[in-house]
Amino acid sequence: MLSIDVLDKASQQIYDTVPDATIIVNTHGEIQYMNELAQSLFGYEENQLLQQPVDQLIPFRFRDAHTAHIQRYVQTHQPRAMGDGQILYARHQLGHEFPVEVSLSPIQSAKGFYVVCAIRDVTERVTIQQTLQRQKQDLERSNEELERFAYVASHDLQEPLRIIASFTQLLAKRYASKLDQEADEFIDYIVSGTKRMQSLINDLLSYSRVSTHQKQFDTIDLNEVLEQAKQNLWVLIEDEQATIESAQLPCISGDRTQLIQLFQNLFSNALKFKSDQSPVIKIQVKNTDEAFEFVVEDNGIGIDSQYADKIFVLFKRLHTQDEYAGTGIGLTIAKKIVELHGGRIWLESERGKGSRFYFTLKK
Ligand code: ADP
Repeated sequence: MLSIDVLDKASQQIYDTVPDATIIVNTHGEIQYMNELAQSLFGYEENQLLQQPVDQLIPFRFRDAHTAHIQRYVQTHQPRAMGDGQILYARHQLGHEFPVEVSLSPIQSAKGFYVVCAIRDVTERVTIQQTLQRQKQDLERSNEELERFAYVASHDLQEPLRIIASFTQLLAKRYASKLDQEADEFIDYIVSGTKRMQSLINDLLSYSRVSTHQKQFDTIDLNEVLEQAKQNLWVLIEDEQATIESAQLPCISGDRTQLIQLFQNLFSNALKFKSDQSPVIKIQVKNTDEAFEFVVEDNGIGIDSQYADKIFVLFKRLHTQDEYAGTGIGLTIAKKIVELHGGRIWLESERGKGSRFYFTLKK
């Protein structure tokens, strides 16, 4: 190991045994000491770098910045801890580079001021991080492609489906009871099948629109959003003699149309899945550290808690068309909107005891 006369025997033994590669430099950036771990990490022989500039251990492109950094450090003596998240690059004697984390601490001896640099090779961690980052990007790209595909497919399918729907309806109108009974039945099946397909495709299109037509966020008053959602459902609310009670809601940064759609989807479900009492919907809000937490509570039929996650999945429904009409997209859209606003949505419910939909929106 390189030795340094500023270190007494005991200190040197300590530096020889620390689990990190350790180098001590003087204020000119010249190496005064390197423990064995540092020698093997950088590929140098004992004493090879004594009194040599520490720059040799740094890739060429970072050397100017490093000299400035050393000068600043000598003036401020500000210690830098390992694990502060800053990754630097070191240069091996053979020329290749590797990522390191470095901690710096000043020591004052009778001979002057020195800097102790502890260096940790973080190649493994950086490789894992890079792989994760790459996988995240791949996933994001493939999600975007899928969303784009769903949008284009549902958009382009609308036109041929419209033709099929109008001609089967024409067929039904003109030829009903002119063919035999079985033919009438077949025509009915085609008409209701096409209607169902139309509503599925329309809903799929509105789902894809949420993510593929992103707008800039504005400051939105949620009280106004709530009023608009109520107005859009006005006829249904009257028919069901429903009451909607809400606490005073905050303003957030968001997309107005999407937020109206969020409240509207939750309200229309509460009205659709009502119990034998008139629907009562209550909206509460809690101000937590990072977000506003909302709850939309109803007194409807409730949901078995085992389905609490499943109902947010695309096309997932718990009832047949005959029981309750729908496509199973409403809550998927609600979830997407909440996530695009930096929040999450979840359900607390028990069958027969109403549902409580919780969601957070970033402040
Ligand atoms: P849809 O209403 O078209 O079926 P959603 O995605 O909006 O689709 O809802 C999925 C399922 O979750 C519904 O089919 C229903 O079973 C259940 N659900 C949603 N909201 C409620 C609610 N407020 N009360 C009871 N069940 C609900």
